[in-house]
Amino acid sequence: MAITPLMPVYPRCGVRPVRGDHCHLIDEDGTRYLDFASGIAVNLLGHSHPGLIGAIQKQAGTLMHVSNLYGSPQGEKLAQMLVDNTFADTVFFTNSGAEAVETAIKTARAYHQSIGNEDRYELITFTNAFHGRTMATISASNQEKMHKGFMPLLEGFKYCEFDDLEMAKSLIGPKTAGFLVEPIQGEGGIRPASDEFMQGLRALADEHDLMLVLDEVQCGVARTGTLYAYEQYGIVPDIVATAKGIGGGFPLGACLATEKAARGMTFGTHGSTYGGNPLAMAAGTAVMEAVANEEFLASVRDKGERIRTRLEQFIGNYPDLFELVRGKGLMLGLKMKVESRPFFVHLRDNHQLMMVAAGDNTLRLLPPLVIGDEEIDEFFDKLSAGAADYVIPEAS
Ligand SMILES: *Cc1c(COP(=O)(O)O)cnc(C)c1O
Repeated sequence: MAITPLMPVYPRCGVRPVRGDHCHLIDEDGTRYLDFASGIAVNLLGHSHPGLIGAIQKQAGTLMHVSNLYGSPQGEKLAQMLVDNTFADTVFFTNSGAEAVETAIKTARAYHQSIGNEDRYELITFTNAFHGRTMATISASNQEKMHKGFMPLLEGFKYCEFDDLEMAKSLIGPKTAGFLVEPIQGEGGIRPASDEFMQGLRALADEHDLMLVLDEVQCGVARTGTLYAYEQYGIVPDIVATAKGIGGGFPLGACLATEKAARGMTFGTHGSTYGGNPLAMAAGTAVMEAVANEEFLASVRDKGERIRTRLEQFIGNYPDLFELVRGKGLMLGLKMKVESRPFFVHLRDNHQLMMVAAGDNTLRLLPPLVIGDEEIDEFFDKLSAGAADYVIPEAS
């Protein structure tokens, strides 16, 4: 048999981590890597945070799972924390980002159907978006590489150019239910939407009674220096999908909504066996306790600013390699003038620095939010050494 036991959908690299130590990963052979990937914006608290580990251990030994048919003191606690710290009035817990976005899509459709607008089921989505890998979430993205082999797509998504408010406006019709947008595109290359665009979508949604649905699966949970990125745009969304960082490494997501937006989500309309189980709630609560306070958020903004300033100085030394730095907080992108993937591999294999490749020739910096000065210095040492001994591969 030629197929591997792990279904070969990922081109896995040679690094095989077996242990985590704060902001480092340790490979099977003992090699230490500086982790500026964080499992793709997941390990907010690094790899060995005593509070998170303790909370999971304690809950595992008390009660790991019960059905959502029972009352949930653990779920009520975390949902209340999210309600207290965001725009939301109500929360549905999921196990992943794609499920959180699915729930958000269903919530937006159900809003309109609950008020008798059966025809309003279409969401306007944006080019180069990434919303997950389920049928609905791949249908919500215009990226053909995710569609190939899985046709037909689900109906009900209209693609608009990202950050193009005029086009978004022109696409509104009798079937439109709302907008689904990442305030800062992650996989697409750390591309922040402009303030005008986000505020314009909010105004259009108000004018036409549409749902403004944000996918904050990557940019949410303190990553950008506010608990959610929408705060920095001065807007209030109707529905937000969150995941990745919210469990700090434990699989957890959530769909947050206002009371108005959730009016179609009544008894029996939606569900999940695992979603919001006590173990997941213990992890999510430990993460929220660590990050949902002004002191922590200010530290993220401060570190983000310092890294950004140093990066901007640094790229000036290599004008042939790097084009610009963009992003917010500790969600930063380094756009290259040459193909970024080979440089990413060079940093990983020759300098033990982990980042994440993204679209638009951009390297993503997504360090644990708990990095300190020592890790920041180590990052710049590795990046400088990597740029200095990089040989741009011949175009193939
Ligand atoms: C990662 C991601 C998802 C999908 O999350 P999964 O947990 O992989 O299902 C959805 N939206 C955005 C913006 C993401 O970055």
